[in-house]
Amino acid sequence: MAYFPKVDGYWGPITSSTEWCECNYAVLPYIAEFYNTISNIPGIILAIIGLVNSIGQRFEKRFSVLHLSTIVLGIGSILFHATLQHVQQQSDETPMVWAMLLYIYVLYSPDWHYTSTMPTFLIIYGTIFAVLHSQFRFVLGFLIHYIFLALICLPRMYKYYIHSKGTPARRLAHLYILTLVLGVICWVADLTLCSRLSSFYLNPQGHALWHVLMGFNSYFSNAFLQFCRAQQLNWSPQLCYFWGLPYVKVSKPKPE
Ligand SMILES: [Zn+2]
Repeated sequence: MAYFPKVDGYWGPITSSTEWCECNYAVLPYIAEFYNTISNIPGIILAIIGLVNSIGQRFEKRFSVLHLSTIVLGIGSILFHATLQHVQQQSDETPMVWAMLLYIYVLYSPDWHYTSTMPTFLIIYGTIFAVLHSQFRFVLGFLIHYIFLALICLPRMYKYYIHSKGTPARRLAHLYILTLVLGVICWVADLTLCSRLSSFYLNPQGHALWHVLMGFNSYFSNAFLQFCRAQQLNWSPQLCYFWGLPYVKVSKPKPE
């Protein structure tokens, strides 16, 4: 549970339903949680790199939308942690659900034969969720719903993982799993061990670490899905590196 007392500051009284293990307005008077705010920047930069690569190599639009949704999510998270206001909390949490719906689309649509029914359903679902979430505070309900959506993705992600045997996509999958596991450990530690962590000379800022790890996690998952999709389409995907950062390069067959 949050250990530090709620401190009102530049953005007024704190109205968000969750708080993290970081002292409010301790670094700058205009930013409620400094480290939890700036830690979203690496994820946004990685998503921009992914977006530029997707457009440059003419991947299907769904991947550009996926990278864009990561950018929106990062900006929403910055607004939320900088202000700790309820409205901004929605701008963090609603894109989290939208991004998960997009993952469901990317993962399941290649096998879906009725092309327009799935996106229509997901758009209606995402819109209804946004409206309901703006009216009600689902604190535990939000978490359960989010985990439920993630669990829907899991079997198909696992299927792709099995099919990626012997390909460089495996490396992306392992980086995805590693960042996810480390991220969840940081998130849980920040939430449950705050009083102990705060007694350290330096607070390890578990929630900020979670943001950084999730930025890499989204990048690796999107690259992994791009690799798998390029294989389905016979685009001969390769894993290349840019300053140590893996990305997917494709060579599409020339039209006859
Ligand atoms: Zn956060």
